[in-house]
Amino acid sequence: MADGLVRAVGADGTVRALAAVTTDLVDEARRRHGTAPTATAALGRALTGALLLGATIKRDERLGLEISADGPLRGLLADATPAGDVRGFVYEPRAHPPPRGGKLDVGGAVGRGTLCVTRVPLAGGSLYRSVVPLVSGEIAEDLASYLVGSEQVPSALALGVFVEPDGRVGGAGGYLLQTLPGATLAMGELLVRAVARAPQASELVRSGLEPAAMLSLLLAAVPHAVIGEQDVRFRCRCSPARVARAVVAMGRAEIQDILAKERRVDAQCEFCAARYHLDERSLRDLLAELTNGS
Ligand code: ZN
Repeated sequence: MADGLVRAVGADGTVRALAAVTTDLVDEARRRHGTAPTATAALGRALTGALLLGATIKRDERLGLEISADGPLRGLLADATPAGDVRGFVYEPRAHPPPRGGKLDVGGAVGRGTLCVTRVPLAGGSLYRSVVPLVSGEIAEDLASYLVGSEQVPSALALGVFVEPDGRVGGAGGYLLQTLPGATLAMGELLVRAVARAPQASELVRSGLEPAAMLSLLLAAVPHAVIGEQDVRFRCRCSPARVARAVVAMGRAEIQDILAKERRVDAQCEFCAARYHLDERSLRDLLAELTNGS
């Protein structure tokens, strides 16, 4: 089943619901970063969560999640655009503590710390930033706590990544249900019960449900309509031109120094693990550009 995200509204606009299947993009993240199973699960939950939260904000903003914590994972970053591009990484891709209760111990791998949510206008400008303590390090709970506490939107959020015995991602996805102003208390309780009864998000995906079918199952008792469907994918914003700009930003003296010593620049993007290489000739071209421009 292809990755995708669906948005729906229900109960006369007082319920917002989103669901996503992210199996392929989480597996791509695993391959790019070489993550061990627990790190794969943590990164996959964060990527899926960033996409879901990103789909609830303004169309001209990018949503970033940053977890800084004391567990073996040493934290992670993920960010998503309204168009459905998401990228991210964990600081320690080999983190894989012993399973707990037969499950990957994502909370143990993350540890205690903070969740920082940022919203950055795509066109530049001032960003919104909120930092909250982690609740459990399981990521879905932490994001739900942020939504309820900081954004004051009652939210039920589930994120799941199933890692096969060989390390590949067998199913990943999640959903977000929110009650908006005007919703009845009973509606909020109904959603909580529906989520409590539902199988795990990764199980819904593995059973072959597409995002719209996931919402039909969760909102069986709530009249609702799908208002948007979109593709989602792992996609980074790095490029050779960005790397060149970063080198130019180091300044003439620094580039001259590199030309005198290593005579090359090797760089790797943290977000997608792409490697970039600037040889002596490209460095001299950049230096000439700097000299002519100033
Ligand atoms: Zn990149």
